[in-house]
Amino acid sequence: MQASRSGFELAAEWVRATAEAIEACSCSDGCPSCVQSPKCGNRNSPLSKQGR
Ligand SMILES: [Zn+2]
Repeated sequence: MQASRSGFELAAEWVRATAEAIEACSCSDGCPSCVQSPKCGNRNSPLSKQGR
């Protein structure tokens, strides 16, 4: 069986998907709908659009 993908690779993929979601949003500074996902589990720690 092939080794599963590394955590780094999965994290990079998650970051890329998040960045795409933020870019797709029409806001300029980030809003709850793009920087906070109800599925991410850390809703009290909003991400920064400047941080990517
Ligand atoms: Zn937004």
